[in-house]
Amino acid sequence: MTDPVRRQLLLGAGALALGGRLARAADVKIEQPRVSAGTLPLADFRPKSMLHAKETAVPRARFPVIDFHTHVTSGNGRKLGTPPENILPWMDRKNLRALVNLTGGTGAGLAETVKRYDLSRPGRFVTFTEPSWDRVAEPGYAKWQGDEIARAVQQGARGLKILKTLGLYLREQGQSGPLVKVDDPRFDPMWEACAAAKVPVAMHVSDPEAFFLPVDASNERLEELGGHPTWSFHGKDFPSNREIMEARNRVLARHPRTTFVTLHVGNGAENLAFVGECLDRYKNMHVDIAARIGELGRQPRASGVLFDKYQDRILFGTDSSPPAAGDLATERAVERSYEIYFRFLETRDEYFSYSTGPVPSQGRWMIYGLGLADSVLQKVYADNAARLLRMPL
Ligand SMILES: [Zn+2]
Repeated sequence: MTDPVRRQLLLGAGALALGGRLARAADVKIEQPRVSAGTLPLADFRPKSMLHAKETAVPRARFPVIDFHTHVTSGNGRKLGTPPENILPWMDRKNLRALVNLTGGTGAGLAETVKRYDLSRPGRFVTFTEPSWDRVAEPGYAKWQGDEIARAVQQGARGLKILKTLGLYLREQGQSGPLVKVDDPRFDPMWEACAAAKVPVAMHVSDPEAFFLPVDASNERLEELGGHPTWSFHGKDFPSNREIMEARNRVLARHPRTTFVTLHVGNGAENLAFVGECLDRYKNMHVDIAARIGELGRQPRASGVLFDKYQDRILFGTDSSPPAAGDLATERAVERSYEIYFRFLETRDEYFSYSTGPVPSQGRWMIYGLGLADSVLQKVYADNAARLLRMPL
């Protein structure tokens, strides 16, 4: 064997040239990897991107923002939440003009919430009411619920929130019977009452497609579902994602005078072509982007088309809850989460995390900023929500 050839082979086998002298592979200590890819638990895999990608800090939204999707209170006023004076400072830091509290409850709980937030800080908080699901089996429910919406609006509610209870949790016969369908006619007077009162319906039905699939090695939300087992709607008597979407669409078609904001990009963020078809078909349909920048941001070109075409019907939302008074660590996390939304919408930064934790919360991918034009940004940040909520522009 000639020297050059021998040298090539040795290099190929891992030999190193040290100070002009050729050392054989066996002489060189190669550091063993501390983990082996074959046995590393998935949860411990924390790869650091080697991309030298641009990182734009966006500590404050470029224009005032109405967050259409928050939970300031919950449990029908029983969890009254953080006092407004502890929320307003970080709202002001982030340029948040108003928070829409979707889970304002009903009756006395609603009245208390409206008094504590909407009335004490006009223009900064907007409270929605909710249906009384526990009465759905009672005779006369349909009319009563419609009338109750009108009463709630008189009490100060500015919209109606539907949780995914409808279609996935609410059952007949004291929760032992079949699931109640999204387009059950008992709710028709409720949808019509919202149209009559000129308040929008914030509607969360269905969930991400992966939640309807087996929780196995092929599920891209495996870790998320592992952390939240009750979010899986695979098997049992659960309908498919598609069946729920079709029931929702029948509601949109049957109540054209009612304004619907289908939350979480209509829970179709994985299929923006379908979302676009629905928006084309139902002129009373809008979407918010809450908790879906992970989906939108991993398909920035399709999302850019959606934001351009439907710029008058997309609303900013986050699904966040104000941290407790004095919980500065959570407050900082909430602020960081807003900064990610702003970065996604305002910049063209590439390949960054959509969540604040060490592992992306919904699935292991990164997102790309949309760099929306100012005119679109203003609509998405506030103008579209202000129009639906009849707030000043
Ligand atoms: Zn929510």
